[in-house]
Amino acid sequence: MPARVLIIEDNQDNLELMAYLLAAFGHETLGVPGGEEGLAAAARGSLDLILCDIQLPAMSGYEVVRQIKGDPRLQRVPVVAVTAYAMVGDRDKIMSAGFDGYLAKPIIPEKFIEQVEAFLPAGQRSAPREIPPSAPAEAAPLPRMKRATILLVDDSPANLSVARSILEPFGYDVPIAGGVEEALRSARQTRPDLV
Ligand code: MN
Repeated sequence: MPARVLIIEDNQDNLELMAYLLAAFGHETLGVPGGEEGLAAAARGSLDLILCDIQLPAMSGYEVVRQIKGDPRLQRVPVVAVTAYAMVGDRDKIMSAGFDGYLAKPIIPEKFIEQVEAFLPAGQRSAPREIPPSAPAEAAPLPRMKRATILLVDDSPANLSVARSILEPFGYDVPIAGGVEEALRSARQTRPDLV
């Protein structure tokens, strides 16, 4: 069962990246750029998780979590701070403000889903990865199924990183190339099924 995740983040790039990664793993997302909108959305919806930036215009993340944890209808929803201020001492300040945990920016696509899903009940996490279905005990060992090789070609390292982080957990081999020459060299070596 997918989770419903509210993202409160005033940086549009961060918001889009988080929403994109969560959606890629089957979760429903709602993104808002400020605390007021976040509280309104939280009051409306049956949410499973809230990701909240600390530094927001008008209302800080600290105020957002204070209001959510002070509301008996909402206080069970985990609220995770997403903040660049990962300095010594901030962890205590964040946790004592009522947050259930925090993720440090910059967001690392390869780690983000696992970090976020740690705050969800097991039934709402995306399908287990890298665990092949177990064969019946009597059956002869099956040859390990090889997934397709997908060669990614993009001159933006961020795009390569996002796409690779989404495909690899599903078992695909994902060579990457930043340009045409590199792509041709890699294609000859890796014999991709898809470019
Ligand atoms: Mn911010």
